[in-house]
Amino acid sequence: MFAEVIVDVAAYPIDRPFDYAIPEKYQSIIESGSRVKVPFGNRQVLGFVTSLKSDTDVPLEKQKPIGELLDIEPVLTQEMLAMTKWLKRHTLCYEIDALQVMLPSALRAKYEKILRIVDSSAVLPQSVQALFQGKDSVELKADESKELLSTIKKLIKEHILVLETAVKQKTAVKKVRMVQIEKDVNRLKEIYENVSNQAKKQKDVIKWMIEHSGERIILSDVLKSLNTTNAVLQGVVEKGAATLEFEEVYRDPYADRTIDVSKKHALTNEQHLALTEIIHSYDQHEAATFLLHGITGSGKTEVYLQAIERSLKDQKEAIVLVPEISLTPQMTNRFKERFGSLVAVLHSGLSTGEKYDEWRKISRGEVKVVVGARSAIFAPFQNIGLIILDEEHEGTYKQDDSPRYHARDVAIWRSEYHQCPVILGSATPSLESYARAKKGNYALLTLAKRPREQALPEVSIIDMREQLKNGNRSMFSLELADAIRLRLEKGEQMVLFLNRRGHSSFVMCRDCGTVVECPNCDISMTYHRHQERIKCHYCGEDSEVPNSCPQCSSDHIRFFGTGTQKVEEEIARFFPTARVLRMDVDTTRKKGSHEHILKMFGDGKADILLGTQMIAKGLDFPNITLVGVLSADTTLHLADFRAAEKTFQLLTQVSGRAGRHDKKGEVVVQTYTPEHYAIQFAQHHDFIAFYHQEMMNRKQFAYPPFTYVVLIQITHEDVLMTAEYAHKAANWLRENLSPTAEIIGPTASSISRVQNRYRYQCLIKYKKEPMLPDVLQQLIRIYRTDWLKKGILMSIDLNPSSIM
Ligand code: ADP
Ligand code: ZN
Ligand code: ZN
Repeated sequence: MFAEVIVDVAAYPIDRPFDYAIPEKYQSIIESGSRVKVPFGNRQVLGFVTSLKSDTDVPLEKQKPIGELLDIEPVLTQEMLAMTKWLKRHTLCYEIDALQVMLPSALRAKYEKILRIVDSSAVLPQSVQALFQGKDSVELKADESKELLSTIKKLIKEHILVLETAVKQKTAVKKVRMVQIEKDVNRLKEIYENVSNQAKKQKDVIKWMIEHSGERIILSDVLKSLNTTNAVLQGVVEKGAATLEFEEVYRDPYADRTIDVSKKHALTNEQHLALTEIIHSYDQHEAATFLLHGITGSGKTEVYLQAIERSLKDQKEAIVLVPEISLTPQMTNRFKERFGSLVAVLHSGLSTGEKYDEWRKISRGEVKVVVGARSAIFAPFQNIGLIILDEEHEGTYKQDDSPRYHARDVAIWRSEYHQCPVILGSATPSLESYARAKKGNYALLTLAKRPREQALPEVSIIDMREQLKNGNRSMFSLELADAIRLRLEKGEQMVLFLNRRGHSSFVMCRDCGTVVECPNCDISMTYHRHQERIKCHYCGEDSEVPNSCPQCSSDHIRFFGTGTQKVEEEIARFFPTARVLRMDVDTTRKKGSHEHILKMFGDGKADILLGTQMIAKGLDFPNITLVGVLSADTTLHLADFRAAEKTFQLLTQVSGRAGRHDKKGEVVVQTYTPEHYAIQFAQHHDFIAFYHQEMMNRKQFAYPPFTYVVLIQITHEDVLMTAEYAHKAANWLRENLSPTAEIIGPTASSISRVQNRYRYQCLIKYKKEPMLPDVLQQLIRIYRTDWLKKGILMSIDLNPSSIM
């Protein structure tokens, strides 16, 4: 028998299965989906068995056997193996990348360098002897001194030592020692009688054991409750009153938290209607995709919960995706509150071991609901009844590096495999999804009201140009400053939101709000700090930063971007009594810090929560009555065709944080472009109107959803090489794709250099291009066989979440 194995080497031409002979001892044990150690070249690498077969084309003298079988039970299901093939084809990734993304990191390969003595007759230098400590092989750590390493290098050259790479099998399973007490009471009594009265402590333990015969108790608990020592217990064990055994346990990240049980709400009519349709399709085993469009606070989560409850009745499983789990502890807790220990939370803050434990619980079906971010879509459930993507419009559902999958696509693929519904939920659906719903590809469900009919907050738009004209140069408009002061007096809470996204900035006139745009495209020019120039990332237009506004000739024109820290200082200056909590990348580096900040705010330890996009989602505090948006414009002028959409989404999401409960909420949005439709429609909470307007623009400029987009990025340490190969790629595409496909660029990327590599990109825009997968595969082949050697790196992103 032979096994086809995908090895853990992400390189061309290795991206194909290799045949290995199955040794006799594994003959009927090995299954596809198992991990194995195999010899590859002169190394040992990790591999995945993807199928078994009785024949091979590999000639006998070249056949190699599998070294070691790592899993008796395969870690990958047949579904995952099929999904791998699909991912590989649709994201153009290496098969090994697709396989690895489905597993927790504890199961991915870890390699260690093993140093071994081959010439035992040689006399080793002192330092090397000290390293080996009498053994003939040791692990070589990277942090050994340079002197030692160079000595070792010399010895390797002289064939006295060899350095081997070995797959390190991390046993991440946590075990505890258990005391298994003898079942037979009479036997225990007999032992008791035989212990001399001198050993009083032992006698006490055995006496206790007679009352607990047959029980199995954690060792440390026994020691604690009997107030005795290990030595005493050991003596009792030796006399046969109990045995000590290891037992696998799970690390429980939620162990020290008490969670209340929540009761379900009686549904509103709208919720009931939505749930009925979902359950209908669930009962029919339909792989239907629902778009649940519900305004913020309309009770989407309650619909998810009750749909899951239905699937749980059939012992089926549910996957719930949230955009970024550490930002939505309140949301996550609602699932725990409703379903208790049936819920596993795949939190990015979990340790590798904790994640592995959660993964095993899922894989063994010991939990039925998984709540997690993007990668939780690969949860190894085998009987899925429902898949949910909350805030389906969020960019975090698209992975930025290989495999570049979108969780929504994977969700739909799995729903077809399991014949179950998918729910995409959002107050501001992506244009793509809403367009699909309008076409009937998705079923549209709408929640237009909040359950207790609370009004959406009043949104006022403040024109910052006017503020400047009236002599107010601070970052707070008079209106916002008044609103803040009022809340401070009343002891109510507020959220101040600084809209900052990406690293790029644009050039704007502070007098008239004009943003410098490309003369050829409908996109703002991006400011490049290094060269002091502005560039268009769509057509490559490149010019100097203007000294005065092209519209009104004012010289108050400059690039834009403010940090949260600066805002914090300003708050301290204007509102010295205000207690501020800042939430941004700097204050949330430590594990658990998001939750900590949110808890402090929830406990009323601060008046103002100041933050970036992080605070736009999921906050639900009764005492928030004011949301202030300091600058709505930042996302609006991103060099991305989704700029208006992202702005609308953000403003709607942050507005949804105010007045969710009994107190009425108010939102103040500061902007230099109050007339922009994204801001206007956000003011009126009007998604449908925004959708129509934005669709018209997309159509006019042929952007998605009217076309598809592919982003190709080329990087190299040398700027000329980067440009040269970017041109090669663009020209090659122009020659090989049909004339209806538009190839834009190459241009330098927004962030034109990262880690000393220059970055160029080009964009393919197309409507229908049946040859595209083949053409891209050919381009990849050219790249992998030729360009890669020259140090060029190329990435291809189909349907990128951003094109900056
Ligand atoms: P969304 O997910 O759409 O933003 P939520 O599910 O968070 O909305 O609901 C908002 C609030 O309304 C929550 O506090 C929730 O408990 C409450 N809620 C949801 N459905 C109902 C209902 N049918 N009756 C009363 N309250 C409800
Ligand atoms: Zn342009
Ligand atoms: Zn101007």
